[in-house]
Amino acid sequence: MSPSAVLHRQLHQAPTLALSGEGSYITLEDGRRILDATGGAAVSCLGHSNAEVRQAMIDQINQLSYCHTAYFSTKPFEELASLLIESTGEKMSKVYIVSSGSEAMEAAMKLSRQFYLEKANPEPQRTKFIARKQSYHGITIGSLSMGGHKFRRELFEPILLPNVSHVSPCNPYRNRKDGESNEEYIARLADELDAEFQRLGPETVCAFVAEPVVGAAMGCVPSVPGYFKAMKAICEKYGALFILDEVMSGMGRCGTLHAWEQEDVVPDMQTIGKGLGGGYAPIAGLLIGDKVIKTLEESTGSFRHGHTYQGHPVSCAAALAVQRVIQEENLVENVRAMGVLFEEELRKRLSDHPHVGDIRGKGLFWGIELVRDKTTKEPFDPNLQLAFKIQDKGLEAKYSISLYCGQGTADGIAGDHILLAPPYNTTREEIVRIVEVLQAVLEDVFGELKV
Ligand code: PMP
Repeated sequence: MSPSAVLHRQLHQAPTLALSGEGSYITLEDGRRILDATGGAAVSCLGHSNAEVRQAMIDQINQLSYCHTAYFSTKPFEELASLLIESTGEKMSKVYIVSSGSEAMEAAMKLSRQFYLEKANPEPQRTKFIARKQSYHGITIGSLSMGGHKFRRELFEPILLPNVSHVSPCNPYRNRKDGESNEEYIARLADELDAEFQRLGPETVCAFVAEPVVGAAMGCVPSVPGYFKAMKAICEKYGALFILDEVMSGMGRCGTLHAWEQEDVVPDMQTIGKGLGGGYAPIAGLLIGDKVIKTLEESTGSFRHGHTYQGHPVSCAAALAVQRVIQEENLVENVRAMGVLFEEELRKRLSDHPHVGDIRGKGLFWGIELVRDKTTKEPFDPNLQLAFKIQDKGLEAKYSISLYCGQGTADGIAGDHILLAPPYNTTREEIVRIVEVLQAVLEDVFGELKV
């Protein structure tokens, strides 16, 4: 029996040991090489074992492995913050670095609250948040309260925050009406958000929070063009903050460094995570715009918050090296080019599959939604655990591919899905191989199920 506790796995299951990684492959204890088609959970943006990143981390450990940011800043933190601010075209003005996406979301929530307390005309009645039914924002109490991930929420409902409510996501496959144009669809979703502000009392809402492309909750769901602009306009109408959670979809994953660049909006704050450090160290961040920062500067001058490991120098050195490699090797451009091929291959091989309901995504962030009936879009019985069967099948020796599979988790919207997120420096050969192997895995799983 293993003493390690990966608590969301069966406790009695022996863990599979991963011994090493190189590029897009992870080597297991039994010698098998697994094609990492998902980078864990859209994390490994440079693949595994990048020499420049490894060296930067070693150099930083040799120089200064830790100091508390309450007393000192460090070179890698300052350089990373400058790089990130520059990457937004100075549209964000400060960077707060933490160790996980959940911590970044918690910080965004608390900073929103503090912002309204410290305004020249304070608004202490602003205590509420509006998020979306189909979303995942993290696992801690605050961030879990923001998300609409039903399965992860349900045991903890009684201890989640009562001041978060949820509106419909923008998911054209699932909730656009027949014959509805983009404009009509956006107007309907905007009306719903407006009505939610009205229901809560618009003067009581701190912020609206959304993922530019929904990740873990439903397998890469981009919004229709113009959606975020309409949502931001409603936030502005009611003086609430507009926050984007780019933990999964940001830092190049969708083909621009920040996903909002494609939406013609700038958020008041944005969280970033996975592609920031590429998995080389635990790191995530909150980028904060001028509106919030100026208010704090003119008031108490500090954020009443803090973690022991915030701005960790080794994590910052790793992320800085990851971002420099992305810049030097023009990898966001490669994300766009390989993304085009990825979409072509997925559509070519899987569109006609009787159980592939939807193929959607951006850049190197693609999702496939599986349905029992393509016409009615009826999902499979969740008890069938289809998504997890696909994930496990992929890991069998004859396929040796790592796929991120999940079950639909938002109110009224169910569905098994597969999320694909290869590294930004992936090759044409790897893209073709991922789709070929995935096709074979699906044939095998559906063959066994005889559906
Ligand atoms: N936000 C989003 C959009 C995410 O995808 C995730 C993680 N899947 C988180 C927040 C939470 O990040 P972490 O697991 O690092 O706490």
